[in-house]
Parts: sequence; C-alpha cells; structure tokens
Amino acid sequence: MSSRSTSPGAGHVGPLVSARCTSCEKISEKRTARIVGETSSGSFRHVCHTCRTATWWNVLRIIDENHPGAGRGST
Ligand SMILES: [Zn+2]
Repeated sequence: MSSRSTSPGAGHVGPLVSARCTSCEKISEKRTARIVGETSSGSFRHVCHTCRTATWWNVLRIIDENHPGAGRGST
C-alpha cells in the first residue's frame, strides 16, 4: 500500500492543481504528473470538456501536492 513510485506517466497520479485552459480560459481542477516547467506555475496538456479536445492548461495553484489518486475529484 506504500509503493512510492514517482515514475511519470503512470496513469492518473500526480499533484491536483487549479489550472486555466489557454483556449477557453475556463478554470478547473486537474490532476497531472506531466507539468512542463515549475509545478506551481508551469503548463500541461489535458482534455478540456468545454473545448472538447486536449488543450494546454496553465497552473494557477497547487491544491494537493501528491495525492495517491484515491477518490474521484470533481468533474
Ligand atoms: Zn478549454
């Protein structure tokens, strides 16, 4: 129950962040392990439900540094 693997791209794990879609500017909470640049101010690709495609998101703030991935976040 305590596998501390931090290998990237291992499914839906990583910090939970508040981020803004660069396309439609919608702000949403996302979980990603693939932030480019600084975790607290970088950007990452994620599906935007408003744009209905994968877009770039800019991190606004970190909500949860390293959640084990349990529990379903707000959708
Ligand atoms: Zn969008």
